[in-house]
Amino acid sequence: MSSQTTGITGRHLVRYGTPADQKYLLGPFRDTYDQLVVNANMLAHAPLAIAGFLSREAKKPFIIDPNTHAFQHGRDFLLSESKASDGKVKKSWQKLIDAYGGPFAEAIHVAERSILPNDFKSDVSIETICAGVADFQLKTINSYLTDKKDAKYLKFVSKAKGIRLDVCTPSLIVAPYFYLGDKNTAEWMEINIRCLRLMTKIPPGGLPVAAEIVISRPLMTDKNFVDHLCSSYSKIHPTPSCILLWVDEFAEHTAKINELMSWAHLIDRLGQIAPVVNMHGGYLSTILSKFTKINLRAVCHGPEYGETRAVIPVGGGIPVSKFYLPALHHRLSPAHAVGAIQALGAMNDRATFLLKVCNCAQCQAIITDDPEIDIKVYFNANAKSFWSGGRWITREFPTGEASDLCTKHYMYCKAAEFTESDDLKSVIAKLKSIHKELPESSDHISSHAVTWPAFLKKIGLD
Ligand SMILES: [Zn+2]
Repeated sequence: MSSQTTGITGRHLVRYGTPADQKYLLGPFRDTYDQLVVNANMLAHAPLAIAGFLSREAKKPFIIDPNTHAFQHGRDFLLSESKASDGKVKKSWQKLIDAYGGPFAEAIHVAERSILPNDFKSDVSIETICAGVADFQLKTINSYLTDKKDAKYLKFVSKAKGIRLDVCTPSLIVAPYFYLGDKNTAEWMEINIRCLRLMTKIPPGGLPVAAEIVISRPLMTDKNFVDHLCSSYSKIHPTPSCILLWVDEFAEHTAKINELMSWAHLIDRLGQIAPVVNMHGGYLSTILSKFTKINLRAVCHGPEYGETRAVIPVGGGIPVSKFYLPALHHRLSPAHAVGAIQALGAMNDRATFLLKVCNCAQCQAIITDDPEIDIKVYFNANAKSFWSGGRWITREFPTGEASDLCTKHYMYCKAAEFTESDDLKSVIAKLKSIHKELPESSDHISSHAVTWPAFLKKIGLD
């Protein structure tokens, strides 16, 4: 299927998490990825900024993730954290609820609870949320470019900067979707399917319609459930253009081989219905999307976070800055990164560091003389104390500069991973070799360098 029919324009997707991410999606990074994923709650929070960013600066194909699952985990997750808000639902979620309408508004605003499968019994409720969810994706950004009072402002800024303001239509529309794994799995799956059926039959705006499947790890490893899920989705006609997959807290780096096998099995089965996109994936997904017959079309991550993600909390935690070690394809704490680089013998001089650790533009600028001293700017941190769980906790927080540099280095590393010319054989050889080079005591950070090759062999790739 071409990108026009799938709505997926390349293998490398990046998530726009917050406005602070913008600088890692523009400038030298703009051409390193294919497509953006914007969360609906972020779009509801800062529509003008995102409309300007997409239409004027990024000018990249994009997808809006409607985050419909967020309303099923308990109302407390949606509440504003500020004391002044008095237990009210956060404004961005409030805006989404208003846009999506139907049972979302009735459950959360009127009944003051999260949504339940029973709220979607009638066909009208499904029609209402499908229309609301599709309209939000189709129209929100363009309404800020054309008919809202802010349109004038955006046009003025664009004219002043001499940049064309493009009309922004997402590459595809994501059907409403709900999390499978907690309770009422059969009921939620049925609702997902009813929404998807309605949308693929009459595609909103004539755009490709994507299914999003968000599933727990226990369900992913349950063969009977996966059979049931895949055979149910395969009966939907017309089929979705692609399947956006998110396995709750699934981490490629720590998964045991059996879990990796279940994961590959799920992707393989879903891929027989439509191309799959891993919405939270790392280098192993990148390899699978490149070398296997499994129909994994693309992989998404955020700027230095999001290679794995828990469904709850729905808002997203505090990103912690770590150093991405390209040879391990893994983010490491400062102590682990320094230890690994020393073990690789790459702390002694600049040339060895650039050869064995990283030669991205950021590292070239930072590692100028003595790697052991120069690298410290990636790790600068301040100790801060905060009250949590009934006691004071002191933790090291990376400085703004350190976090900025780590993110830039990470984005360069990711770009290189998606474009590297290595064949599968040398990818596997390199993984095995880095594991051998690191001491046994590093196993907790490097065991995937052994597990991944074993897994690739088991699925018949080695
Ligand atoms: Zn680097």
